[in-house]
Amino acid sequence: MKKILVTGGAGFIGTHLCKELVKNKNNYVISIDNFNSGQKKNLIYFKNKKNFKFIKHNIQKKISIDADEIYNLACPASPKIYQEDPVYTIKTCIIGTLNLLENAKKYNSKFFQASTSEIYGNPSLHPQPESYWGNVNPIGIRSCYDEGKRGAETLCFDFHRQYNLQIKVARIFNTYGPYMYQFDGRVISNIILQALKNKEINIYGDGQQTRSFCYIDDLISGITKLMSTKKNFLGPVNLGNPNEISILSIAKKIIKLTNSKSKIIYKKLPKDDPTRRKPNINKAKKELKWYPKVDLDEGLIKTIKYYKNLD
Ligand code: UDP
Repeated sequence: MKKILVTGGAGFIGTHLCKELVKNKNNYVISIDNFNSGQKKNLIYFKNKKNFKFIKHNIQKKISIDADEIYNLACPASPKIYQEDPVYTIKTCIIGTLNLLENAKKYNSKFFQASTSEIYGNPSLHPQPESYWGNVNPIGIRSCYDEGKRGAETLCFDFHRQYNLQIKVARIFNTYGPYMYQFDGRVISNIILQALKNKEINIYGDGQQTRSFCYIDDLISGITKLMSTKKNFLGPVNLGNPNEISILSIAKKIIKLTNSKSKIIYKKLPKDDPTRRKPNINKAKKELKWYPKVDLDEGLIKTIKYYKNLD
Protein backbone atom coordinates (compact mmCIF):
# COMPACT_ATOMS: atom_id res chain seq x y z
CA MET A 1 0.00 0.00 0.00
CA LYS A 2 1.26 3.47 -0.89
CA LYS A 3 1.17 5.92 2.04
CA ILE A 4 0.45 9.45 0.85
CA LEU A 5 0.52 12.55 3.02
CA VAL A 6 -1.48 15.57 1.81
CA THR A 7 -0.99 18.81 3.73
CA GLY A 8 -3.76 21.36 3.35
CA GLY A 9 -6.01 18.34 2.84
CA ALA A 10 -9.19 20.20 3.89
CA GLY A 11 -8.53 23.12 1.57
CA PHE A 12 -9.86 23.70 -1.92
CA ILE A 13 -7.21 21.85 -3.94
CA GLY A 14 -6.38 19.45 -1.10
CA THR A 15 -9.96 18.18 -0.87
CA HIS A 16 -10.10 17.46 -4.61
CA LEU A 17 -6.68 15.80 -4.54
CA CYS A 18 -7.61 13.55 -1.58
CA LYS A 19 -10.86 12.58 -3.35
CA GLU A 20 -8.85 11.53 -6.39
CA LEU A 21 -6.20 9.65 -4.36
CA VAL A 22 -8.65 7.67 -2.16
CA LYS A 23 -10.31 6.28 -5.31
CA ASN A 24 -7.30 3.97 -5.60
CA LYS A 25 -7.65 1.31 -2.91
CA ASN A 26 -3.90 0.75 -2.99
CA ASN A 27 -3.41 4.25 -1.61
CA TYR A 28 -3.62 5.14 2.08
CA VAL A 29 -4.17 8.89 2.34
CA ILE A 30 -3.26 10.91 5.42
CA SER A 31 -4.68 14.41 5.25
CA ILE A 32 -3.30 17.18 7.45
CA ASP A 33 -4.89 20.58 8.01
CA ASN A 34 -5.25 23.10 10.81
CA PHE A 35 -8.39 24.72 9.32
CA ASN A 36 -6.72 28.08 8.92
CA SER A 37 -8.13 28.33 5.41
CA GLY A 38 -9.36 24.74 4.99
CA GLN A 39 -12.86 23.73 6.00
CA LYS A 40 -14.03 20.97 8.36
CA LYS A 41 -17.09 20.32 6.20
CA ASN A 42 -14.86 19.33 3.29
CA LEU A 43 -13.95 16.21 5.29
CA ILE A 44 -17.52 14.86 5.35
CA TYR A 45 -16.94 13.08 2.04
CA PHE A 46 -14.16 10.96 3.61
CA LYS A 47 -16.14 9.85 6.68
CA ASN A 48 -16.48 6.20 5.68
CA LYS A 49 -13.35 5.89 3.57
CA LYS A 50 -11.19 3.16 5.09
CA ASN A 51 -8.05 4.29 3.28
CA PHE A 52 -8.25 7.86 4.64
CA LYS A 53 -7.11 9.38 7.91
CA PHE A 54 -7.21 13.01 9.07
CA ILE A 55 -4.77 14.67 11.47
CA LYS A 56 -5.28 18.22 12.72
CA HIS A 57 -1.85 19.80 12.62
CA ASN A 58 -0.13 23.06 11.79
CA ILE A 59 2.84 22.38 9.50
CA GLN A 60 4.75 25.20 11.22
CA LYS A 61 5.37 22.50 13.86
CA LYS A 62 7.57 19.50 13.07
CA ILE A 63 6.02 16.17 12.13
CA SER A 64 7.29 12.63 11.78
CA ILE A 65 5.16 10.60 9.39
CA ASP A 66 6.50 7.76 7.28
CA ALA A 67 5.04 8.38 3.82
CA ASP A 68 5.97 7.28 0.30
CA GLU A 69 4.73 10.57 -1.10
CA ILE A 70 4.05 14.03 0.31
CA TYR A 71 1.93 16.66 -1.39
CA ASN A 72 2.51 20.02 0.27
CA LEU A 73 -0.57 22.17 -0.36
CA ALA A 74 -0.85 23.76 3.07
CA CYS A 75 -0.93 27.54 2.79
CA PRO A 76 -3.56 30.26 2.54
CA ALA A 77 -3.59 31.17 -1.17
CA SER A 78 -6.15 33.94 -1.45
CA PRO A 79 -4.67 37.47 -1.29
CA LYS A 80 -7.44 38.51 1.12
CA ILE A 81 -6.67 35.68 3.53
CA TYR A 82 -2.89 35.50 3.19
CA GLN A 83 -2.64 39.24 3.87
CA GLU A 84 -4.73 39.05 7.06
CA ASP A 85 -1.77 37.49 8.91
CA PRO A 86 1.27 37.91 6.65
CA VAL A 87 3.74 36.60 9.25
CA TYR A 88 1.70 33.42 9.57
CA THR A 89 1.69 33.12 5.75
CA ILE A 90 5.44 33.40 5.30
CA LYS A 91 6.05 31.08 8.25
CA THR A 92 3.79 28.48 6.65
CA CYS A 93 5.65 28.81 3.35
CA ILE A 94 9.16 28.67 4.79
CA ILE A 95 9.07 26.90 8.19
CA GLY A 96 6.18 24.67 7.15
CA THR A 97 7.85 23.57 3.91
CA LEU A 98 11.18 23.08 5.73
CA ASN A 99 9.52 20.83 8.32
CA LEU A 100 7.93 18.74 5.59
CA LEU A 101 11.14 18.50 3.59
CA GLU A 102 12.97 17.30 6.73
CA ASN A 103 10.26 14.69 7.15
CA ALA A 104 10.57 13.67 3.48
CA LYS A 105 14.34 13.37 3.87
CA LYS A 106 13.95 11.17 6.95
CA TYR A 107 11.61 8.73 5.20
CA ASN A 108 12.87 9.23 1.65
CA SER A 109 9.45 10.41 0.40
CA LYS A 110 8.77 11.83 -3.02
CA PHE A 111 7.88 15.50 -2.46
CA PHE A 112 5.34 17.59 -4.37
CA GLN A 113 5.40 21.33 -3.76
CA ALA A 114 2.40 23.49 -4.65
CA SER A 115 4.08 26.61 -5.92
CA THR A 116 2.28 29.40 -7.69
CA SER A 117 2.12 31.84 -10.58
CA GLU A 118 2.58 34.52 -7.89
CA ILE A 119 6.29 33.76 -7.96
CA TYR A 120 6.32 35.66 -11.30
CA GLY A 121 4.95 38.77 -9.51
CA ASN A 122 3.66 41.46 -11.88
CA PRO A 123 5.23 39.85 -14.95
CA SER A 124 7.10 41.86 -17.56
CA LEU A 125 7.14 38.81 -19.84
CA HIS A 126 3.87 37.53 -21.23
CA PRO A 127 2.85 34.69 -21.21
CA GLN A 128 5.07 33.36 -18.45
CA PRO A 129 7.38 30.40 -19.14
CA GLU A 130 9.11 28.58 -16.27
CA SER A 131 12.45 30.08 -17.33
CA TYR A 132 11.20 33.58 -16.41
CA TRP A 133 12.53 34.69 -13.00
CA GLY A 134 9.71 37.10 -12.28
CA ASN A 135 9.16 40.68 -11.23
CA VAL A 136 8.39 40.55 -7.53
CA ASN A 137 8.21 43.31 -4.95
CA PRO A 138 10.09 41.92 -1.93
CA ILE A 139 8.54 44.34 0.59
CA GLY A 140 4.95 44.73 -0.60
CA ILE A 141 1.66 43.43 0.76
CA ARG A 142 1.77 40.34 -1.49
CA SER A 143 5.40 39.54 -0.61
CA CYS A 144 4.59 37.28 2.36
CA TYR A 145 3.10 34.84 -0.15
CA ASP A 146 5.16 35.59 -3.29
CA GLU A 147 8.53 35.58 -1.56
CA GLY A 148 7.40 32.82 0.81
CA LYS A 149 6.59 30.57 -2.13
CA ARG A 150 9.82 31.54 -3.90
CA GLY A 151 11.76 30.62 -0.76
CA ALA A 152 9.84 27.33 -0.58
CA GLU A 153 10.89 26.51 -4.17
CA THR A 154 14.50 27.27 -3.21
CA LEU A 155 14.26 24.91 -0.24
CA CYS A 156 12.91 22.13 -2.46
CA PHE A 157 15.72 22.50 -4.99
CA ASP A 158 18.36 22.70 -2.24
CA PHE A 159 17.03 19.53 -0.62
CA HIS A 160 17.28 17.89 -4.02
CA ARG A 161 20.84 19.11 -4.69
CA GLN A 162 22.12 18.55 -1.17
CA TYR A 163 20.27 15.37 -0.13
CA ASN A 164 19.12 13.96 -3.47
CA LEU A 165 15.48 14.24 -2.40
CA GLN A 166 13.00 13.50 -5.17
CA ILE A 167 11.02 16.70 -5.73
CA LYS A 168 8.25 17.80 -8.09
CA VAL A 169 7.41 21.51 -8.19
CA ALA A 170 4.25 22.84 -9.87
CA ARG A 171 3.49 26.52 -10.38
CA ILE A 172 -0.27 26.67 -10.10
CA PHE A 173 -2.14 29.46 -11.91
CA ASN A 174 -5.60 30.73 -10.95
CA THR A 175 -7.84 27.73 -10.33
CA TYR A 176 -11.55 27.64 -9.56
CA GLY A 177 -14.33 25.17 -8.89
CA PRO A 178 -16.45 23.55 -6.19
CA TYR A 179 -15.08 23.38 -2.62
CA MET A 180 -13.46 26.80 -2.85
CA TYR A 181 -14.30 28.47 0.46
CA GLN A 182 -17.20 30.82 -0.19
CA PHE A 183 -15.57 33.68 1.73
CA ASP A 184 -12.14 33.05 0.23
CA GLY A 185 -12.26 36.45 -1.45
CA ARG A 186 -11.15 35.14 -4.85
CA VAL A 187 -12.65 36.80 -7.88
CA ILE A 188 -14.72 33.88 -9.19
CA SER A 189 -16.25 32.89 -5.84
CA ASN A 190 -16.94 36.55 -4.97
CA ILE A 191 -18.62 37.35 -8.28
CA ILE A 192 -20.72 34.18 -8.38
CA LEU A 193 -21.98 34.76 -4.83
CA GLN A 194 -22.78 38.42 -5.55
CA ALA A 195 -24.49 37.52 -8.84
CA LEU A 196 -26.61 34.79 -7.27
CA LYS A 197 -27.89 37.28 -4.68
CA ASN A 198 -28.34 40.05 -7.28
CA LYS A 199 -25.96 42.15 -5.21
CA GLU A 200 -23.52 44.71 -6.60
CA ILE A 201 -20.48 43.09 -8.20
CA ASN A 202 -17.21 44.62 -7.05
CA ILE A 203 -14.51 44.94 -9.67
CA TYR A 204 -11.17 46.14 -8.38
CA GLY A 205 -9.61 48.73 -10.69
CA ASP A 206 -10.98 49.10 -14.23
CA GLY A 207 -11.37 45.35 -14.72
CA GLN A 208 -8.92 45.30 -17.62
CA GLN A 209 -6.40 43.23 -15.66
CA THR A 210 -6.31 39.64 -16.88
CA ARG A 211 -6.10 36.17 -15.40
CA SER A 212 -6.26 32.70 -16.95
CA PHE A 213 -8.59 30.38 -15.09
CA CYS A 214 -8.16 26.63 -14.84
CA TYR A 215 -10.95 24.31 -13.73
CA ILE A 216 -10.02 22.23 -10.68
CA ASP A 217 -10.41 18.80 -12.39
CA ASP A 218 -7.82 19.79 -14.99
CA LEU A 219 -5.42 20.94 -12.28
CA ILE A 220 -5.77 17.68 -10.32
CA SER A 221 -4.95 15.64 -13.42
CA GLY A 222 -1.88 17.83 -13.97
CA ILE A 223 -0.70 17.35 -10.38
CA THR A 224 -1.08 13.57 -10.44
CA LYS A 225 0.61 13.35 -13.84
CA LEU A 226 3.52 15.41 -12.55
CA MET A 227 3.88 13.11 -9.54
CA SER A 228 4.26 10.09 -11.82
CA THR A 229 6.92 11.58 -14.12
CA LYS A 230 10.37 10.01 -14.22
CA LYS A 231 12.71 10.63 -11.31
CA ASN A 232 14.85 13.24 -13.02
CA PHE A 233 11.91 15.50 -13.88
CA LEU A 234 11.74 18.00 -11.02
CA GLY A 235 9.85 20.90 -12.55
CA PRO A 236 9.13 23.67 -11.99
CA VAL A 237 6.22 23.25 -14.35
CA ASN A 238 3.34 25.66 -14.95
CA LEU A 239 -0.11 24.17 -14.43
CA GLY A 240 -2.89 26.42 -15.64
CA ASN A 241 -5.24 27.19 -18.47
CA PRO A 242 -3.78 29.62 -21.04
CA ASN A 243 -7.25 30.97 -21.88
CA GLU A 244 -6.68 34.59 -20.78
CA ILE A 245 -9.65 36.81 -19.91
CA SER A 246 -10.12 40.24 -18.35
CA ILE A 247 -11.79 40.48 -14.95
CA LEU A 248 -14.55 42.65 -16.44
CA SER A 249 -15.28 40.02 -19.11
CA ILE A 250 -15.48 37.24 -16.55
CA ALA A 251 -17.89 39.32 -14.45
CA LYS A 252 -20.11 39.85 -17.50
CA LYS A 253 -19.96 36.14 -18.31
CA ILE A 254 -20.99 35.17 -14.77
CA ILE A 255 -23.86 37.70 -14.78
CA LYS A 256 -25.12 36.09 -17.99
CA LEU A 257 -24.74 32.50 -16.79
CA THR A 258 -26.58 33.25 -13.53
CA ASN A 259 -29.27 35.40 -15.15
CA SER A 260 -28.39 38.00 -12.56
CA LYS A 261 -29.68 41.55 -12.17
CA SER A 262 -26.43 42.61 -10.49
CA LYS A 263 -24.76 45.89 -11.45
CA ILE A 264 -21.01 46.19 -11.71
CA ILE A 265 -19.32 48.74 -9.49
CA TYR A 266 -15.66 49.68 -9.51
CA LYS A 267 -13.46 49.75 -6.40
CA LYS A 268 -9.86 50.70 -5.76
CA LEU A 269 -7.30 48.30 -7.23
CA PRO A 270 -5.29 46.66 -4.41
CA LYS A 271 -1.56 47.40 -4.32
CA ASP A 272 0.75 45.21 -6.41
CA ASP A 273 -2.22 43.52 -8.12
CA PRO A 274 -0.68 41.91 -11.25
CA THR A 275 -1.95 43.49 -14.48
CA ARG A 276 -1.84 40.27 -16.49
CA ARG A 277 -1.18 36.61 -16.03
CA LYS A 278 -1.15 33.72 -18.46
CA PRO A 279 0.83 30.49 -18.31
CA ASN A 280 3.01 29.19 -21.07
CA ILE A 281 2.23 25.46 -20.75
CA ASN A 282 4.56 24.04 -23.40
CA LYS A 283 6.61 22.26 -20.74
CA ALA A 284 3.54 20.59 -19.20
CA LYS A 285 2.36 19.54 -22.66
CA LYS A 286 5.74 18.01 -23.49
CA GLU A 287 6.74 16.45 -20.17
CA LEU A 288 3.37 15.49 -18.69
CA LYS A 289 1.37 15.15 -21.91
CA TRP A 290 -1.11 17.41 -20.11
CA TYR A 291 -3.29 20.28 -21.19
CA PRO A 292 -6.56 21.63 -19.73
CA LYS A 293 -9.75 20.24 -21.26
CA VAL A 294 -12.62 21.99 -19.42
CA ASP A 295 -13.68 25.23 -21.07
CA LEU A 296 -14.54 28.27 -18.99
CA ASP A 297 -18.33 28.20 -19.49
CA GLU A 298 -18.52 24.51 -18.59
CA GLY A 299 -16.40 25.00 -15.47
CA LEU A 300 -18.32 28.09 -14.40
CA ILE A 301 -21.67 26.31 -14.76
CA LYS A 302 -20.46 23.51 -12.43
CA THR A 303 -19.07 26.06 -9.96
CA ILE A 304 -22.27 28.15 -9.98
CA LYS A 305 -24.25 24.96 -9.24
CA TYR A 306 -22.01 24.26 -6.22
CA TYR A 307 -22.50 27.76 -4.75
CA LYS A 308 -26.25 27.65 -5.45
CA ASN A 309 -26.56 24.48 -3.37
CA LEU A 310 -24.46 25.71 -0.43
CA ASP A 311 -26.42 26.02 2.78
N1 UDP B 1 -10.87 40.97 -8.01
C1 UDP B 1 -12.00 41.74 -8.25
N2 UDP B 1 -13.09 41.56 -7.44
C2 UDP B 1 -13.11 40.66 -6.41
C3 UDP B 1 -11.96 39.89 -6.18
C4 UDP B 1 -10.85 40.06 -6.99
O1 UDP B 1 -12.03 42.56 -9.18
O2 UDP B 1 -14.13 40.55 -5.73
C5 UDP B 1 -9.70 41.12 -8.91
C6 UDP B 1 -8.34 41.25 -8.21
O3 UDP B 1 -8.06 42.60 -7.93
C7 UDP B 1 -7.42 40.63 -9.23
C8 UDP B 1 -8.26 39.55 -9.91
O4 UDP B 1 -9.62 39.91 -9.66
O5 UDP B 1 -7.03 41.58 -10.21
C9 UDP B 1 -7.99 38.16 -9.38
O6 UDP B 1 -8.04 38.20 -7.99
P1 UDP B 1 -7.96 36.91 -7.05
O7 UDP B 1 -7.96 37.40 -5.64
O8 UDP B 1 -9.00 35.93 -7.43
O9 UDP B 1 -6.57 36.21 -7.41
P2 UDP B 1 -5.09 36.72 -7.76
O10 UDP B 1 -4.90 36.26 -9.16
O11 UDP B 1 -5.00 38.22 -7.65
O12 UDP B 1 -4.23 36.03 -6.79
